[in-house]
Amino acid sequence: MRFLVTGGAGFIGAALANRLVAEGHEVRVLDDLSAGDPSRLHADVSFTRGDINDIPKLWTLLHGVECVYHLAARVSVPESMLYPRDYNAVNVGGTVAVLEAMRDAGVKRVVFSSSGAVYGEQAQQPLHEGMLPDPRSPYAVSKLAAEGYLRVMGIRWGIETVSLRIFNAYGPGQQLPAAHPPVIPSFLRHALRGGSISVHGDGKQTRDYVYIDDVVTALVAAATAPNVDRKVINIGSGVETSVNELIEAIGAVLGKSLAPLYIRTQDGGVSRMCADLRLAAELLGYKPKVSLAQGLALMLERDPRFAVAAR
Ligand code: NAD
Repeated sequence: MRFLVTGGAGFIGAALANRLVAEGHEVRVLDDLSAGDPSRLHADVSFTRGDINDIPKLWTLLHGVECVYHLAARVSVPESMLYPRDYNAVNVGGTVAVLEAMRDAGVKRVVFSSSGAVYGEQAQQPLHEGMLPDPRSPYAVSKLAAEGYLRVMGIRWGIETVSLRIFNAYGPGQQLPAAHPPVIPSFLRHALRGGSISVHGDGKQTRDYVYIDDVVTALVAAATAPNVDRKVINIGSGVETSVNELIEAIGAVLGKSLAPLYIRTQDGGVSRMCADLRLAAELLGYKPKVSLAQGLALMLERDPRFAVAAR
């Protein structure tokens, strides 16, 4: 098949693009490199630098494409609190631009990377797709709005649309920006350098950490699965892990005892998150394979930033 991956130079997008070319597909990537790095892409991936709001560029790249993976986005919850307009322009406006260009080019299906963040604070766990979303940040609002545009414009323009609500993905190659880095690579880096790990709140807040290879497997399945049109599907590990348990797991894989520093004045975010994976199993045949302990060990082994420090 021929694919376009928007945001394909990013953490998830590059892993997906590389898997697709390894499986013999033709893959084009569009990424503005605001956060991505094209050097992580296999030489057979065709890379174009550009913005998802550039419709003429999208027309060119969509020629002959059968399925779009729409992953390009601004991705930080705390940053979205500071720049909601930017998050709206890229994550919502950019999604509408991709859909318009797909309509013009006659592309059949789009797989969208939504987020578990759309659920917000819920009384019950695990989180299932039938729950009423309760987004708590401009980032989460932008993902929910994009899901809505996919559904409505998909029906109107005859495009098959599927949104995967990805939970906390982690793995080799994950971005480590100076401001608001994701917890796993950030904790690993501090633990390896002997620095202290800062935890917002009491560390009892839970998340569902899913290894990158499992996320990619779900994305690959979503391109060709039947009966996924207009569906919203959770992708996680199905395991609920508190931040304190995560720190213990990192300590175990490094063979170190870690003493976190609790910053109780900082909000630790939503109190609990765990994905219900029944729909993913039914529609995508999805079953996560990598445990947190295995995933952390793979990150140390495969990510040169940690492999060097771990020796
Ligand atoms: P990432 O920042 O590594 O990847 C996003 C990519 O989009 C970057 O390469 C960036 O350069 C590119 N991009 C941003 N704005 C763009 C624009 N206007 N035009 C073209 N390219 C642009 O983040 P990621 O973790 O790989 O996330 C990929 C997708 O998955 C995002 O949509 C994100 O919201 C979603 N997601 C990620 C997670 C996670 O845990 N990593 C969880 C849920 C959802």
